[in-house]
Amino acid sequence: MKYDAIVVGAGPSGSASAYFLAEEGLSVLVLERENLPRPKLCAGALPPAVEELLGFGIKDAVEDEVREVTWIWRADRTTWRYVEPVLYTVMRDKFDLLLVERAKAAGAEVVDGEEVVSLEEGREEVSVRTRAKVYRCKFLVGADGAGSVVAKYVGRSNPERTVRTAEAEISVPYEFLKACEGRATVEFRAVPKGYGWIFPKADHLSVGVGGLRLRRAREHLKAFAGRRLPTPAYREVGAWAYPVWGARRRWARGRVLLVGDAGAFANPLTGAGIYTGIWSGLLASRAISKAISGGSLEEMYTEMILGEISPELSAARNLSIIYAIPGPAFVALKLGLLRGSFLKRSYSDIWRYISLGITSLRPSNIPSPPSPAPRTPRTI
Ligand SMILES: Cc1cc2nc3c(=O)[nH]c(=O)nc-3n(C[C@H](O)[C@H](O)[C@H](O)COP(=O)(O)OP(=O)(O)OC[C@H]3O[C@@H](n4cnc5c(N)ncnc54)[C@H](O)[C@@H]3O)c2cc1C
Repeated sequence: MKYDAIVVGAGPSGSASAYFLAEEGLSVLVLERENLPRPKLCAGALPPAVEELLGFGIKDAVEDEVREVTWIWRADRTTWRYVEPVLYTVMRDKFDLLLVERAKAAGAEVVDGEEVVSLEEGREEVSVRTRAKVYRCKFLVGADGAGSVVAKYVGRSNPERTVRTAEAEISVPYEFLKACEGRATVEFRAVPKGYGWIFPKADHLSVGVGGLRLRRAREHLKAFAGRRLPTPAYREVGAWAYPVWGARRRWARGRVLLVGDAGAFANPLTGAGIYTGIWSGLLASRAISKAISGGSLEEMYTEMILGEISPELSAARNLSIIYAIPGPAFVALKLGLLRGSFLKRSYSDIWRYISLGITSLRPSNIPSPPSPAPRTPRTI
């Protein structure tokens, strides 16, 4: 059978792409290398606005709702409190499976334990070779993450724009765990050009460090956790590297396109890639739906990325200057200047205000964006 689209990889970007494509009425196959559910090294923090983007709730996979964010810089700290959750935390095996189930329910076929090894593009179709067999489709979505096979076909990326991380799932004494409920902690410049995080999960903490081209990430992680936690008991420790926005200038070639980490859509300021991965999946589905009735997939998808995701992620990249001037940046956080906007609003808004030289950037001064249409991204 020839599918309208094949999606390689069942992470959030791939499953979301498959879900959106199936919802458009297209025939979709997802090929995933691992057996599902599979674990994934990740802090698992994402904005609640992801539910708007997906068009369905993800509460079944939510471990905790963060309403308090503590920022630390050297010996100083400041806490922002919110009434509504500003972040959800999830464990990725459960969250990713929830998205897979939604994609299946929408009509997508999912085959796990089958690794894609190569692809070949013809005039009318793409052949996708796994270790077991060859599948054919009209369009191919590469959602196979940081080491993507599909991305190699689309074109090279810049290795300088790679975030290196180490993370651990850590058990802590019960009282400390309770005190961490609903609270995220971020230590500014816990590592060069990056930060350390402590995110609450239902029965433990996810603790990690990450930074652009960070070296000795595991050592930094142990130092950070030792400094911030009482008697940390490590359950799992891992290190991983992935490209962020700016690593790639090309996201499509012919009938093939890239979403999520395969396309380097992670936010270069925060390292978060789930929301933007899903967003790229939404655009991918729109581009493919249009291309089914004619026109160049490559042109349509590129135009959508440059028009919709690029302004946000490019602004986030500009804001990464905070890692070079952590002192003044922390003062800004302490004054609460970006409290309402940093986590809730768009980076392009923040960057526009900063670059216009408006210094009193308080939430009340930021005009609210118009009510978004369903699935219109507004937060990263
Ligand atoms: C330590 C750490 C902490 C992070 N914390 C956060 C966070 O708090 N919030 C956030 O938003 N982001 C975070 N990220 C980034 C986030 O994990 C990624 O951006 C996100 O997983 C991207 O999703 P994806 O679907 O594009 O790729 P992935 O989640 O990597 O999924 C890719 C899938 O493709 C499969 N695959 C790979 N190759 C093949 C193949 N050849 N054939 C078939 N299948 C294949 C893989 O098995 C995998 O299931 C973190 C990353 C790390 C490393």
